[in-house]
Amino acid sequence: MLLELLPWVLAGVLATILCFLYYSNQKNCIPMSIDAVPRAAFRTTRLTQSTFLLSEYNDVYDEQPQIFVKVVPSANAILIIDTGCGGATVDPDIEITSLRRYIEDVKLDCNDGKPLNEGGRMEYVVVATHCHYDHILGMEQFAADSRILASSHSPSFLSRANLPTNSLCASMGLKTPVYTPILVPHRYAVTSSARVPLGVSVLHTPGHTPDELALYDPAEKMLYVGDSLYETAAIIFPKEGSIVAWMASMQYLIDFVRAENDGDDGFGGRGGEVLINCGHETVCRPALEVLKSAKEFMEDVIGGREPVRERLCRREEVNVRYVQDGGRFALRCPERLVLEAREVKEV
Ligand SMILES: [Zn+2]
Repeated sequence: MLLELLPWVLAGVLATILCFLYYSNQKNCIPMSIDAVPRAAFRTTRLTQSTFLLSEYNDVYDEQPQIFVKVVPSANAILIIDTGCGGATVDPDIEITSLRRYIEDVKLDCNDGKPLNEGGRMEYVVVATHCHYDHILGMEQFAADSRILASSHSPSFLSRANLPTNSLCASMGLKTPVYTPILVPHRYAVTSSARVPLGVSVLHTPGHTPDELALYDPAEKMLYVGDSLYETAAIIFPKEGSIVAWMASMQYLIDFVRAENDGDDGFGGRGGEVLINCGHETVCRPALEVLKSAKEFMEDVIGGREPVRERLCRREEVNVRYVQDGGRFALRCPERLVLEAREVKEV
């Protein structure tokens, strides 16, 4: 009997030893300074010499927005691309939920042990890639003293009267943030309030929403596209979106990036490949390949070569879901937008 139990006893002892080793290793991974660092709703990764990715990693809406920050000491300014969900987190132990406080107070190892904008000494310039709630819920923190920029493509879409609906704040039961954006044209060069360039230009890329925009940084070859697309997470269109407009915007970006990869689009970029950064997933990936592949997936959807995986009702409209084999690209949108794009293609 005892002999029969021996393998189980040995397995139990082995499991205990493995568990002990695993958890002791985990402990060793915790930084020694953990007690001194307040727990924040954001995590930062340095992407380039000037640019940082702030991930709002545990938000109550499960949006996990990616906020990009570019520090421009020569202009005494700091550019913020989107402001996330306002720090609303599922974790009750989080001490810092304000994006602005995080940027001004929290010392970061990846920034030589300093906050990104210590004491708020640099001016903020904030750009909304578009007005959806998960990109603007932090805007009020900057509304009183900072330049906030948005696309001028469709001013009525961003009007005070329409923002609660178009930001999705109304359908989510959220208070719509109050801020007054400066609406800027296509190919607008972003500057500080003293008109010092920040080295980044706005490109109008309507489709996901009429106000969707991209930003391009030629010196660092970085393209920021908001919610126009991403890999692995579904590309989503609300009822205010347009696949027809999206296809034109993606073709524009493909041509733009191809020219910039060749170093010849008038933005004065240096050699090297443009990298794409998106609003929820996808960071520093080759822009041309990602854009072309996303557009090809959408062409397959419009051409009827992708099967509808799911039908669901959202905001009183039939929505459809498509998922590419392998899961790289997926789409969720009102079926009406696919049918519209199909009609345009057939004309
Ligand atoms: Zn969006």
